Amino acid sequence: MVEQEVIGVDAGATWIKGARYSAELELLQEIKQASAAAEGSVAYFDAIAEVVAALAPEGGVPVGLSLPALLSRDSKTILAMANVTDLQTGDQPQVVKDIFTERWNTAQFVVQNDAHCAALAEWKLGWGSGEVSRSLLHLTWGTGIGVGFVVEGLVQYGWEAGHLPVSWEAADWRCGCGSTVDLEALIAVPRLVEQARAAVTAGIVATKITLPELADIREAPKLLSQRASSGDALAQQILGEALTWMARGLLGMSVISFPDRVTIGGAMMASDWLLETLREAIEANRQGFVSRALEARQVQRAKLGNEAGRVGAAWLALQAFSR
Ligand SMILES: [Zn+2]
Repeated sequence: MVEQEVIGVDAGATWIKGARYSAELELLQEIKQASAAAEGSVAYFDAIAEVVAALAPEGGVPVGLSLPALLSRDSKTILAMANVTDLQTGDQPQVVKDIFTERWNTAQFVVQNDAHCAALAEWKLGWGSGEVSRSLLHLTWGTGIGVGFVVEGLVQYGWEAGHLPVSWEAADWRCGCGSTVDLEALIAVPRLVEQARAAVTAGIVATKITLPELADIREAPKLLSQRASSGDALAQQILGEALTWMARGLLGMSVISFPDRVTIGGAMMASDWLLETLREAIEANRQGFVSRALEARQVQRAKLGNEAGRVGAAWLALQAFSR
């Protein structure tokens, strides 16, 4: 009998990262290709199809796909997708299930939101470790704030909690959804980098950070995180404030969901200083009934990093189509 294999693909705005795994989720082969998201949905879907075809030329392997998209409850239709030009508004929903079933000539195909896939991966292979935690709340801190909630291995629908309103005052930044008071408006990486640039230019807070160091938005999160860790006053001020907003957001989410474990992923979480500061902010903001819902020690940095999306998607496909 041929060993069961499975494919996981994380189709982001910049890269499409695909991999073939064993039934035990051991990595067998991986491929990374530039995403064609900026060229529209047809080019983007073509690029995803190419990656899968390269990983399984003969077909017949279950595929799990992780997309930065708002999907319908049955996960068959893209309702909105910020990074693909013709899918931004959701005026023309795309039935993604039909698109790929046709292209790959297989019905063994599942698709899920990227933060939900990352949450599944953390529950299965990271801090959840399957049996240890019944439920796990995961937050990915990046250009957007992705959230996923997993209970006993099953991802829960909804949880667009990056758009949780957390402030009474409008921020000087607008979330992609239009809000100026939600968690994403307050702590999205581009806003924090912009704050750092403005502060360096104004020269009011002591810092060794320079404008050229903040020029590349892909490198800036790691830089800010490391500088905060080594004591830079400006980096600590900006990230400290962001972590207080995150703590309030997590407390709000937790009083609804009572998670056993909370994990935070994304490039910004590049040092232990961030975890310690977040834990302090959670302790400082716990009061009343909310303090029953979350304690600082339940919060961890995500273990899986960049691989979370595709391995979570692969596990989803295994759950659905294991022989
Ligand atoms: Zn929003």
